[in-house]
Amino acid sequence: MRTRQRKLLNNNYIRFPLFWIGTILGIVWASPLTVLGLLMALPVVLIRGQMQLVRHPTIAILVRGPFADQLLSRHPFGAMTAMALGHVVIAEQQGLSSRVLIHELAHVRQAARWGIIFPFAYIASSAWAGIRGRDAYWHNKFEIDAREAEKQF
Ligand SMILES: [Zn+2]
Repeated sequence: MRTRQRKLLNNNYIRFPLFWIGTILGIVWASPLTVLGLLMALPVVLIRGQMQLVRHPTIAILVRGPFADQLLSRHPFGAMTAMALGHVVIAEQQGLSSRVLIHELAHVRQAARWGIIFPFAYIASSAWAGIRGRDAYWHNKFEIDAREAEKQF
């Protein structure tokens, strides 16, 4: 990128509104997935659970509770500590580390970028890994990118 363009993008008067426009578009674009996430989050919150807003580095709603623990331990892809659906992250009460949260927030950003196509793209990436004889979870492109985000943490 040319210096002048870079300078322009580093200008806070431009960067700040751009960040918010991108964030809001991402929230709208991923909203069908977020609705599903909220539907799953509802019983978690109602059964002695809690909900909090994560602001940084990505806006998301974090939901935890005993029902989330049950849900995640019986996940069809195997027990997990957390999962993201749109802008909703459902996590275990005990197992949520900063590293896990950073990983899930990477999935939130992927959902904001891909929107309703994201689940299909995710499955396609797993299938592509499987076809090549690789692990459908570990070698999924979206999981590789999320693990990469953990490193930057
Ligand atoms: Zn992941």
